[in-house]
Amino acid sequence: MNGLTKSKVYDVLIVGAGVAGTYAALNLPDDVNILVLSKYEKTTCSSNLAQGGVAAVLDFEDDSFDLHYADTLTAGRNANNTEAVTMLVHEGPDDVRKIISWGVQFDINEKGKLSKTLEGGHSRRRIVHHKDTTGAEMVRVLQQKCEDAENIELVENAVLVSLNPVRSGFRAELLINGEPHCVFSSFCILATGGIGRIYKYTTNPKSATGDGIRIAYECGARIKNLEYIQFHPTAFNSDDGEQFLISESVRGEGAYLLNCHKERFMDRYDPRLELAPRDVVSMSIILESRRTGSNNFYLDITHKDEEFLKNRFPGIRAGCLKKGIDIAKDLIPVFPCQHYLMGGIEVDADSKTNVPRLYACGECSNTGVHGRNRLASNSLLEALVFSRHAAEDIIRCMSSGIFPSVPEHPYTLDYSGAPLPANIREDIKNLMQRAYFVVPDEGRMRVAKQQIEAILMRLKGGKYAKTVEYCEALSMATCAYIILNNA
Ligand SMILES: Cc1cc2nc3c(=O)[nH]c(=O)nc-3n(C[C@H](O)[C@H](O)[C@H](O)COP(=O)(O)OP(=O)(O)OC[C@H]3O[C@@H](n4cnc5c(N)ncnc54)[C@H](O)[C@@H]3O)c2cc1C
Repeated sequence: MNGLTKSKVYDVLIVGAGVAGTYAALNLPDDVNILVLSKYEKTTCSSNLAQGGVAAVLDFEDDSFDLHYADTLTAGRNANNTEAVTMLVHEGPDDVRKIISWGVQFDINEKGKLSKTLEGGHSRRRIVHHKDTTGAEMVRVLQQKCEDAENIELVENAVLVSLNPVRSGFRAELLINGEPHCVFSSFCILATGGIGRIYKYTTNPKSATGDGIRIAYECGARIKNLEYIQFHPTAFNSDDGEQFLISESVRGEGAYLLNCHKERFMDRYDPRLELAPRDVVSMSIILESRRTGSNNFYLDITHKDEEFLKNRFPGIRAGCLKKGIDIAKDLIPVFPCQHYLMGGIEVDADSKTNVPRLYACGECSNTGVHGRNRLASNSLLEALVFSRHAAEDIIRCMSSGIFPSVPEHPYTLDYSGAPLPANIREDIKNLMQRAYFVVPDEGRMRVAKQQIEAILMRLKGGKYAKTVEYCEALSMATCAYIILNNA
């Protein structure tokens, strides 16, 4: 639905309509008045692109919570928040069961049980999936449920520009279809996703410019470990901006990773070979490219049956066919690219930030679950568990009676100003791509930091009109600056 038809005062404003935002909304009671924003059309979000699946221990035949916990810590290089990981692995399975009961369809095997796949860093097959389009299936069900709920308004092309804490709530400035609006809410949940678009090459959709992180930072929220960025080892190697992901589950199902000589090479770098955690495989590719002097790498799954590939990887097969590659017959050209953000807005176990009544969940948050490197398919699970916790904490606060609805105040929005110069966003992307990719370059980082700082000052002092482009550029520059500063 487009356009705000109800009151402009809400109990809860949720910024983001991906898995984290919609699941938070659906875990609030139906007498709570909720506004959910989607910056572009509602399917433009990382959740909708997730291929591999959701990692969860749904039975104990050959798996356990302890094994999932241990795999998560190993991938995260033991920099994880262990309490958060315990919550994730113990509570996550019930959230997965809940969305199944709501209609999310995960694949079933010939025995009539949930089909489970393997991805890098997992010691057991525990990833449930819907073919290779798991995220789209989850988004389909969760967004539909939100649209069916009378207390939830999901608005597309609605951009949060800024958030101002006011007495007993927030005043939020929005652009809806380019028009300025102002809404008030007692609570706010930021679920704005990642920062991939600050890079030239990323798997993330155009919405991923770090807006929630910038807005939280402006509100005084603490931002943590923003330099913990995951680079996926196997994106389709082409020159487009948005890189098409070749899911880890392709390696999980037996694909080999080959160098420019069409030789397997992972044994040079890690005994877990192709199924080492992502950071290890990405780093190995970069080291191998230095050794061979070539950026040409391939995935080879041609030894698998064509019917199996058609059925198991319909999305990846179709995406590769569009680029002239038949995965049953051809090698798939791959190279690492930006994929996921482990750091973000610092939150506690209830997804609360240090700003009263401000919550964050999903990829924009830092729960500490992932440590330095996310274990494959743990992020959708994190989005479910921690967005539910945000909702539960809001329910507790509301029932304590200390948070009356925030009153509407008269307010004028000034959106006049100069247009944003076209090259600013490209400049940020190029600087980040060169300075802080898989193996950071210290010299370039120092120079890039100065240049990003100059861009940031120009954006803040330039009297530019508050357009979506301007807000995104401001978010990109803010996040890039924090990353380079921390790194
Ligand atoms: C190609 C790809 C494959 C992946 N595969 C997997 C996988 O198999 N398993 C797994 O666990 N994880 C996977 N991930 C990661 C996972 O999909 C994401 O981490 C997760 O979906 C993030 O969910 P989210 O709700 O936090 O953010 P998103 O789904 O990105 O949603 C963000 C929302 O915020 C909105 N938004 C942003 N800024 C604003 C603003 N200023 N105003 C209003 N709205 C705003 C956006 O419009 C969007 O609706 C994958 C990611 C990608 C990109």
